[in-house]
Formats: sequence, C-alpha cells, structure tokens
Amino acid sequence: MKSLAVLHASQLITLTGPGRPRLGPEMSKLGIIRDAGMLIREGKIELVGPSDEIEGQMTALSSQVSAGRYASEIVDAGGRVVMPGFVDAHTHLIFAGNRLDDFERRARGESYEQIAKAGGGIWSTVEKTRGASEVDLLAQAKKHANWCLRCGTTTAEAKSGYGLTLESELKLLRVLRQINVPPRTGDAIRDSRTARSPAVEGGGAGSETPLQIVPTFLGAHAVPPEFSPDEYVDVVINEMLPRVASQRLAEFCDVFCERGYFDVDQSRKIFCAAKRLGLNLRGHVDQLTNSGGARLMAELGATTADHLEQTDQPGIAALKKANVQPVLLPGSVYALGARRYPAAREMIDAGLAVVIATDFNPGSSPTPSMPMILSLACTQMKMSPAEAITASTINAAYSLNRGDRIGSLEPGKLANFAIFDCEDYRELAYWFGIPRTHSVYVKGECVSRSGGV
Ligand SMILES: [Zn+2]
Repeated sequence: MKSLAVLHASQLITLTGPGRPRLGPEMSKLGIIRDAGMLIREGKIELVGPSDEIEGQMTALSSQVSAGRYASEIVDAGGRVVMPGFVDAHTHLIFAGNRLDDFERRARGESYEQIAKAGGGIWSTVEKTRGASEVDLLAQAKKHANWCLRCGTTTAEAKSGYGLTLESELKLLRVLRQINVPPRTGDAIRDSRTARSPAVEGGGAGSETPLQIVPTFLGAHAVPPEFSPDEYVDVVINEMLPRVASQRLAEFCDVFCERGYFDVDQSRKIFCAAKRLGLNLRGHVDQLTNSGGARLMAELGATTADHLEQTDQPGIAALKKANVQPVLLPGSVYALGARRYPAAREMIDAGLAVVIATDFNPGSSPTPSMPMILSLACTQMKMSPAEAITASTINAAYSLNRGDRIGSLEPGKLANFAIFDCEDYRELAYWFGIPRTHSVYVKGECVSRSGGV
C-alpha cells in the first residue's frame, strides 16, 4: 500500500470546510496549521494535523502493520509552506505556435486592427492550429501542462477554440482527452469513435501529463471568415455541439460574448443548446464592453461568468442572485497593457465566491503562472493574499464541479499539493517574477521539483 507522510510545513494551508465555495469574509479564512503535516494513502489524504500528531499516528500505525513503518516515504517540508495545488479554472492550454509578432507590434503601439491587418490576432493561431497534427498538438499541450505544474498548478480547465471547424474543434478536444487518460499499449492518438469517455479523475501516473485537465468546448470563440455570424452559430449548434456531447468530449460549453464576436442573443442560443445536451456553462463576458453578459450568465444559471472587466453593479447583483461564480483574469488586463481590472472588491463584498485564473493563451495572457496572478490580484484588484489563495484553490475547484475532491487539504480529498520555498503564504503574492515552487504532488506522487523530478 503506497503511503506518504508530509512533515514540518511552516504553514499547512488546509482551507478546511464549509463544504461549499467560500463567500465574502470566509475567503480570508485559510485554516492554517503551523508546523504541520499530512498522512497520505493511495493518493488520498488520510490525516491532517500538527507534525507531532502525524508522527504519533505513524508510530501507532506502524506497530499495527506487520510490514513495518506505516509511511513508506517521508517528505520533510523543512519549514516551507504546503498548500493545495492551484486550480486554474480558465486556460486555453492547447494551441500551435505563438504570437511574438503581435507582442512586438503591440509594444510599438499598434492597434488590434493594425495587428490583424498584418496577419496577426486570433486568426494566425487558428491557421497554425488547424494545420497542426494531433501529435504536434499533443506535444505542445504537454509542454504547456508542464509549465503549469512547475508553477504549482495541479488541475487546469482547458478550452478548445482555435480550430473553429467541426473537425479541428473535435481534434483539439480529442487531444485534451488523450493527454489525461493513461494510454493503452501502442496507441498514440486513438480514433475518436473508439475513444473512452473522459476519466472522472484524469492526470496522475501513466497519463501523458500528471496535470488534471477539465475540458471545455469553445467552438464559439470567433466567427470564421468563411461564415456569417448567424450561419456559424447554426454550425456550432447543429454540427459541433451534438458531436461534442455524444462523444463526451467536454464538460462545459463556453462562448466569447462580445461586440464583433457573438452578441447576447447568439450566445444565448448556443448556451441553451449546450444546456439541453447536458453541458454546464462558463462564458467570456463583459471583457471589452459591458454588453449584459453577466446578466445573461445569471439568466442561464451558468456555473461561471469569466472576465467581467466591464461588469457594473446590476451585473454583480445578478450574479449573486443566481449563484454564478465570477472567474477574474487579471493576467489578460496586464498583458494587453489595459487599465481596467474587474471589480474584485465589490464582488467579494457582495458575497460572490470569486475565482482567479490565468487565462493562459498565446494572444492576451501568455502566462501559466498562478503566483503571478496572485500578485496581480493583490496589487491591481486589492484582494488580500488570503482571498487570492482561496480564489485560486477551493473556490476554483467548486467552479469546476470538483469542490468535493480537490482544492483543500482535508481527509478524503486527493493528495494534490504544492510545497513553496517560503515560510509565510503571503510571500507567494509578494515576491513576484521569481519561481518559488519547491515541489508539486498529484495524487501523492511527486510530479515536479525545482531542478527536475
Ligand atoms: Zn479566455
């Protein structure tokens, strides 16, 4: 029986209780135990407490187990912070190429229109992604997943959305499935008709990456030039969604609801069709303009409303009334050189279960780093370091319908945790631009260590 004991964390950030997302003042309560540890068995947490209690329990158990010591492996955290692995609830993990030329043009002060005219913008990524093979996309996605792990993230939501044809969207979702399910002998990329449905708990040993991935279908990311907006909405609803649902390739459906992309009525149509097929909803809303996207997500009973840079007070009230979790993405505001961050303080004060995430993507937020997002949350959105940790772990886990399995360090949950080279959790948001990850564990297995596993 594989077992592990973690001892001597300066602070064990447990985030224990209350069995639902944390709201308002609860977001500041981290459930910290000093000089603490955990007992882990078969990839799950069995006991959490002060180090001497954990050691006492190990001694008591080892006398009962004839095979010897209870813990086959002991991890001495050496006075570092131990906390749940980050849950990154909004990423575009899978794409081909990069947008270095756009980055340079933006730095020169060129507008979005000028960049698009020069062959940049989302279409350059769509073209490269459409042209990439599944093998190439798998390699690219694994590289990105490894970056996430190195920053202390153990679960990431990942969207399609750079294919925008039936076949290429299915291709992206197949690769996302492939990356998370242990391969059968000899088959690199399986035929979609014979592929198994997504594992309830992906990642871990034997998978292409130990990062646990939650797939989202974002066929409505932009309107391809070969279609009018209404024609493409029909393609998404009548061709893409039924295939995605019947092959169980995604858990969520997302739409970029924005002027020039999909308006509120078109977004509603797509979301309603997705809901009828059993998909849960998350939406890119109110990023560039306040188009009523937050109110739409509330009306539809969505799981999350993401971005919300332009959302006003009535939008916040609607989200609260409908219990929709906001997912705030300060990395994209920062990387675009924009000024207006979402109103995190008002949302927390209104009692919303706020989530923060990277929005990792090649255009507007090329960072997989949750510690960087914590820094932005504190410096630009005036969240406290404790609120930022809650928003990036347990609240994020609930936003992916996994609050009962990940996001906190409690008996019965998966042993997904990270050890950081600091004594106080506030250091995570305070020191920025320097990696602080010491080691990362998924289901009790070390999957990343500074200097290599
Ligand atoms: Zn996004």
